Amino acid sequence: MPGRILIIDKIATNRIVLKVKLASARYDVTVCSQSDEAVDVIRATMPHLVIAGANSLTPAVTDCIIESRGSAGRLTMPVIAITKDRGTDARAVLLGAGADEVLERPVAEVTLLARVRSLLRARAASSDLRPHEDTSFALGFAEKPEGFAPAPRVVLLAPPTRQSARLSRHLGRAGFRPAAIVDPMNAFLDGSLTADVYVIDAQHAWSVAEDSAVFGLISDLRSRPESRHAAILLVAAETAADIRSMAFDLGADDVVDFDAGAEELRLRLGSLARQVTAMSGLRETMRSGLEAAVHDHLTGLHNRRYAMPRLSRMLKATHDAPEISQVGVMVIDIDYFKRINDRYGHGVGDRVLVEIASRLQSCLRPADLIARIGGEEFLVALSHTGKSDALETAERLRQVVESHEIRCGSDRIQVTLSIGVAVSALTESGEDASAILRRADRALFGAKSRGRNKVNLSSPAAA
Ligand code: GH3
Ligand code: MG
Ligand code: MG
Repeated sequence: MPGRILIIDKIATNRIVLKVKLASARYDVTVCSQSDEAVDVIRATMPHLVIAGANSLTPAVTDCIIESRGSAGRLTMPVIAITKDRGTDARAVLLGAGADEVLERPVAEVTLLARVRSLLRARAASSDLRPHEDTSFALGFAEKPEGFAPAPRVVLLAPPTRQSARLSRHLGRAGFRPAAIVDPMNAFLDGSLTADVYVIDAQHAWSVAEDSAVFGLISDLRSRPESRHAAILLVAAETAADIRSMAFDLGADDVVDFDAGAEELRLRLGSLARQVTAMSGLRETMRSGLEAAVHDHLTGLHNRRYAMPRLSRMLKATHDAPEISQVGVMVIDIDYFKRINDRYGHGVGDRVLVEIASRLQSCLRPADLIARIGGEEFLVALSHTGKSDALETAERLRQVVESHEIRCGSDRIQVTLSIGVAVSALTESGEDASAILRRADRALFGAKSRGRNKVNLSSPAAA
């Protein structure tokens, strides 16, 4: 089922007509006649989209929708208001009351369905970036509260005519003066043409194939890396129902009549700007949450979750030519670390771990893998490294820790490392990451039993 839609309308015929249109497009439709009933239905079923007759969009319904969206923002439950009143002032009132779109009766089916699709798509895009609450919690994702959003950078894509200069002034009156007006024909000659919101002036012919030029531009903006996350607002003639629906399907976020007043423009552009800011915040939260999920928060090194698949990839890369390219793997363990904790306290123990991580990292190349894989245990893997280079590096790592005491306040702490080294097999069958790690672990055990503060090489893998 493509989505759950709630229709709220006092008039039975309106409800029935809408329900038939939406149900035949395979939406799961619920209907309500009363606002107070709607409030209960919204709370109980959390519809993906609400379509409300203008009179049914009462403050109680709007409040309930806002409350159900919670901190998750505007588009998690978009609202389409349907009205018999014509004109920009009537639309502005409903947009101001919380609608994301206002359609006038009678609503053309093609326009309605295209708008429903586009709002549901935007809703899905924003919920995709919001992991379930328990996952977010586990990964440490914190959604930023909606705060002050900086003014969006608006670029007007319009042919150089007097009408477009007028449109630019009009956008300025709505509080969104374009930073640039660019001829759509040259829109992508300059790669630095970035914006938060692109306003496309589609009211006049740009070329012989007017409509397809508009459509091509929308698709282009949606597919280019520099503009694909921006919002697209199309300014179209009121009558152009087919352009509107096609524009929505190609990825425009909103379409406004060319005769829209400053207030309607202000509300629509404001909503788009908030949407762009919220989505970029969500992408950033997701990106930093994923980063955090593969790092150890104490030392900043990668963790085991990252290290094992990375080691697998490093090993796979050698399988075709193991005699040319081997991987050197080390498991490094701090000697008698428990004593440090016992003597100086856990806080000092933590600082020792951080210092050791930093010393180890300073001896390695950026392409080498280093991870904290246990309490006081580290994994290092070096590409293109045979036995003698691996042993040499391991010895360097051992020395960089042994050579200088670690200072913690007035304490000077002598720390040593034991290191087990395993080098990938010279056969094409190869070992997997866990197997080579087990070998390095066994070598580490050997280093410990030989008195600690040693580097020990494992015997080669069985062929
Ligand atoms: P060995 O030479 O045999 O490796 O002795 P060890 O004391 O280093 O090894 P053991 O496994 O007995 O103790 C490891 C200690 O590391 C126990 C644990 O409390 C401590 N540890 C593990 N993770 C952390 C951490 O994040 N911070 C601190 N401060 N200590 C940790
Ligand atoms: Mg240990
Ligand atoms: Mg230890």
